[in-house]
Amino acid sequence: MSTNVKTRIRRDDEVIVTAGRDKGARGKVVRVLPEKGKVVVSKVNMIKRHTRPTQNSAGGIVEREAPFAISNIQFVCPKCDAGVRMGVKSLEDGRKVRTCRKCGEVLDQ
Ligand SMILES: [Zn+2]
Repeated sequence: MSTNVKTRIRRDDEVIVTAGRDKGARGKVVRVLPEKGKVVVSKVNMIKRHTRPTQNSAGGIVEREAPFAISNIQFVCPKCDAGVRMGVKSLEDGRKVRTCRKCGEVLDQ
């Protein structure tokens, strides 16, 4: 069954981890997996994977990012310099932009 979590987090957003082993760590979102309710954040939640030797690689231990539950991260507002909740507002030209609920800063260009 698909959960399809609705999220305002997008690729390249800076986020902060709010729970778990890497609590407080910051990174850039490299992938959003809405159907799993997860995101992959660069250099956060690293796991070691043992790989078998193949024709293309020698095998061994590879470190890579494990996906995170979206509920365990927050968007980092550059103005607040902290994890914040996001809101959405419509501009005069009809575009919708994401805003910081704390300081009101528009987070999209
Ligand atoms: Zn803010």
